[in-house]
Amino acid sequence: MKEKLYTIPINDAVSADDECPICNARRSLENDAIDYAIGPGASYMESDIREMTDSKGFCERHYKKMYEYGNSLGNALILSTHIRKAAADLKKEMASYKAVKSGLFTKGGMSNVERYIDELTGKCFVCDYYRETYKRYIATFFYLYENDGDFRKKIKDGKGFCLPHMKELLSEAPSALSAAMLDDFAKTLFEVQSRNLDRIEEDISWFVEKFKYENKDKDWKQSKDAIPRTIQKLAGGYPADGPYTGE
Ligand SMILES: [Zn+2]
Ligand SMILES: [Zn+2]
Repeated sequence: MKEKLYTIPINDAVSADDECPICNARRSLENDAIDYAIGPGASYMESDIREMTDSKGFCERHYKKMYEYGNSLGNALILSTHIRKAAADLKKEMASYKAVKSGLFTKGGMSNVERYIDELTGKCFVCDYYRETYKRYIATFFYLYENDGDFRKKIKDGKGFCLPHMKELLSEAPSALSAAMLDDFAKTLFEVQSRNLDRIEEDISWFVEKFKYENKDKDWKQSKDAIPRTIQKLAGGYPADGPYTGE
């Protein structure tokens, strides 16, 4: 069976006039996942979902987002049964604790207790909920790039990508694109990134200039929101976003 393509969300993200369409698509996926976990659909009241949140819990980023969402009763229900399971499992591991001496042959070795904590804190119900779809989003991005001239033009004329997503696209491109298209993609990506990094640098520099007395009445140009856009370009994400509390 051919794997699902997500042409609509990817086209929407590319048309969103965002500093990074991949950040844009990822934010929508992540918000949908938060809605699913703690929102009005009350998936946490279903026993199969609760079994999953009980065993996985959430990563630090998504605990914060769950907390910010504001459903206190939902959060408390999820947390109460998750901590019950985690405490019971941890007690079992502690009862059979065996220290691991780090030495020449056991470098980086972990005791069973450390390993348990490491595994538990590495799991996240929300991350897992959208991970596969996110992978398909990246595959769809390359499918459209390979097959749709209008899409390629939008990328070429667009605002580029944040640096972490630039890296991700570069690492996925060789297996996702034909050899001829791979050359085209790298060339386009580098042109787009160079042009847009210059643009951002100009915006943030003008922001600095605006603090000079002689510029105080001059136009802001594109600089008013240059700080969050520069941060996004460098590191991804949306520093100016408030807490997500549902649609
Ligand atoms: Zn990004
Ligand atoms: Zn997570």
